Amino acid sequence: MNDAHAPADAADAPWRRAAAAAGLLGADGSPAPTIFAEMTALAHRTGALNLGQGFPDHAGPAEVTEAAIRAIREGVNQYSPGRGEPDLLAAIAEHQRRFYGLDLQAEQILVTAGATEALAATLLSQLRAGDEIVVLEPYYDAYVALAALAGARIVPVPLRAPDFQPDLDELSAAVGPRTRMILVNSPHNPTGTVLGLELLDRIVDLAHRHDALIVTDEVYEHLAYDVPHVPIATRPGAAERTLSISSAGKVFSVTGWKIGWVSGPARLIEQVMAVKQFLTFVSGAPFQPAVATGLRLPDPFFTGLRGSYRAKRDLLVDALEEAGFTVTVPASGYFALADAAPLGLPDAVAAARDLPERVGVVAVPLSAFARSERTDLRSILRFAFCKSDAVLEDAAARLRSLRA
Ligand SMILES: *Cc1c(COP(=O)(O)O)cnc(C)c1O
Repeated sequence: MNDAHAPADAADAPWRRAAAAAGLLGADGSPAPTIFAEMTALAHRTGALNLGQGFPDHAGPAEVTEAAIRAIREGVNQYSPGRGEPDLLAAIAEHQRRFYGLDLQAEQILVTAGATEALAATLLSQLRAGDEIVVLEPYYDAYVALAALAGARIVPVPLRAPDFQPDLDELSAAVGPRTRMILVNSPHNPTGTVLGLELLDRIVDLAHRHDALIVTDEVYEHLAYDVPHVPIATRPGAAERTLSISSAGKVFSVTGWKIGWVSGPARLIEQVMAVKQFLTFVSGAPFQPAVATGLRLPDPFFTGLRGSYRAKRDLLVDALEEAGFTVTVPASGYFALADAAPLGLPDAVAAARDLPERVGVVAVPLSAFARSERTDLRSILRFAFCKSDAVLEDAAARLRSLRA
């Protein structure tokens, strides 16, 4: 290949400029090498157990996976309606009523290609260039990339050890006249923190005061271990300015299906749909009836899921503590955060590179989910516990050997 004949790079494409400013691209404009890719490669090379990546290694409920197979056999293989299969829209509405007492009409719901597309279409349809978007930091990496794509500016509210709860004053100070959107993620990835009612109500109050939208990412809604999940849309005055996002991936252990949804005021959903139709138009037709089946599963499925993950959490947390880490017991989600400083490992990036060889376990440094100035996160590693008990028990034994 002769590069002289290759087209010139669009270095000044708006996203390239915004993404470079957000640290998502290297100096040469190529995607910044992610620690995730490096750690996965290291796991392959060393044969270490990969607790770096946050996807389940076990099958979802048989009723759900069988329903997808049946749908393919029965010919549900063409474009679905733009808003989503009517029966899935009905199942989402039933789910929101059953678990949270929320009343939704079909025109208040949109099915998307995972929570990721719901986030993309929401941010692209609601943010103007120069708007500010308030996010909890550490954050899910897509938030920063999508804000950059929309030309908006991230205003982070730091979550700090040991409990990773936002400080009310810092939260209030982050919201101002330029704030267009407050992006809530509770249950929170990667800290596992769950926002209490006082915080949720403060966010609603701030959104009203500055006429901001609330966008809430609730993909871990069924994985809150200690207190029940409370959607911010159920709080007084919130529903009229809140877009709520969730997904089938985490709750039914089918992260590859990419079926998500966003719900809220019909006028806003209309605007989100206007963007969504040109991102993917539609996706995952045979998975949509399967997800409807999942959302209608009886309560024991949801309590069983929670109980099983709580046990996995406890197994991993105990092992990390015995190994000598300082661990924050996560109130929700797939991940445990462990401070490696007490083990004489003050740099989690170095520790993550060292652990696979030393004990055969892969984790990722928490710094990957925050700005580089968050030096308080420097010694913290993130371990996923969404793995089979056999893998977790093996990992636990390996981690305990760190102590020796
Ligand atoms: C996994 C995850 C998503 C993405 O969900 P998909 O349905 O796979 O697109 C969004 N937000 C958070 C916090 C997540 O952990």
